[in-house]
Amino acid sequence: NMVRKVYPNLMPYVCQLADLPIEEMKQALGKEQVYKLSFNENPLGPSPKAVKAMQEALLQLNLYPSSTGDALLARIGDKEGVEAKNVILSNGADEMIILVAQTFLEPEDEVIIPEVSFVQYLASTHMMGAKPVFSPMKEDLGVDLDAIIERITPATKTVFLCNPNNPTGTVIPADELRAFLKRVPENVLVVIDEAYHEYADDPEYLSSVEFVKTYKNVFVIRTFSKIYSLAAARIGYGIGQEELIEAIHHVRPPFNVNSIAQAGALASLDDEQHVSESRRINQFGRKLLAELFDELGMKYLKSATNFVCVDTGRDSGYMFDQLAKHGVIVRNLAGYGMTTSLRVSIGQPEEMQAFAAAMREIL
Ligand code: PMP
Repeated sequence: NMVRKVYPNLMPYVCQLADLPIEEMKQALGKEQVYKLSFNENPLGPSPKAVKAMQEALLQLNLYPSSTGDALLARIGDKEGVEAKNVILSNGADEMIILVAQTFLEPEDEVIIPEVSFVQYLASTHMMGAKPVFSPMKEDLGVDLDAIIERITPATKTVFLCNPNNPTGTVIPADELRAFLKRVPENVLVVIDEAYHEYADDPEYLSSVEFVKTYKNVFVIRTFSKIYSLAAARIGYGIGQEELIEAIHHVRPPFNVNSIAQAGALASLDDEQHVSESRRINQFGRKLLAELFDELGMKYLKSATNFVCVDTGRDSGYMFDQLAKHGVIVRNLAGYGMTTSLRVSIGQPEEMQAFAAAMREIL
């Protein structure tokens, strides 16, 4: 057998209905209008400044991109108060998680992953033949940092945290995070995925970029796919001490981030107005959802992101199918053992209205 021993642990990335591009969803459902609320995409679309910069970059398709993306590294460094050498680009945050795993994990290493969190941490752990150790959530579905500490052994190599967390939308309170980092042994890499950082408006939220200066075992991941709305371009970045960044450069493919994406990302960082407009639309939609769930008597988690996790009190597969019949695609959280919960991405007001109308009809 030619394939690696880890193969049986790996799940192929097969697209289910909720993972399809919207045009394919329309085909699959035989509908002209479909509301895709399953991917936490920004309904506003990217900054016009980013689109213009990307169109200009298209004129140089014959040239390789900057391998390290120095101009963008410097700009991110300025914005985040770190040096360019503390930043590294990747083909989406997904690739950054994979690169971290490829750089630091060896077979049999233990990797602690909160039970209800982003799936790529588990996939990357399995890919390296390392051993996932699941850590339970708090009763309220917040990330339980004490439970993680209890699971650290001499074999622990990495802890993956997502803050704010996907799919719960909740934040790890700043004081808990501070106390946690003090207790984690310095040979354990703490990866903090802040894909939803720019949406995180909870006063308890604190970005871990500030910890990068004091802890050489802290690595922060960000993306341009969410508030900056460049998901199709595939670009993300990591922030850490130079030693970590250098190590990842050894593993990174030479031209992993294309020049169109680099140009768009750079321009999007200069459009504060686009970011505030995206936040405004998001807060409006989140309020609509909160009011709807209150009206329907459904429990939902306080979200600091562009999605809301709701307990429908009914079978989530049934709810997913019924919503799909109405042309609304959400994320079914049954795979996490949350068999009555859905994750609903926040769209434009009319998308929220369509979701609300469908929910009222179904119930
Ligand atoms: N991390 C988290 C927590 C996410 O939700 C996502 C997107 N679903 C990613 C990483 C991957 O984002 P990207 O598009 O940058 O690969």
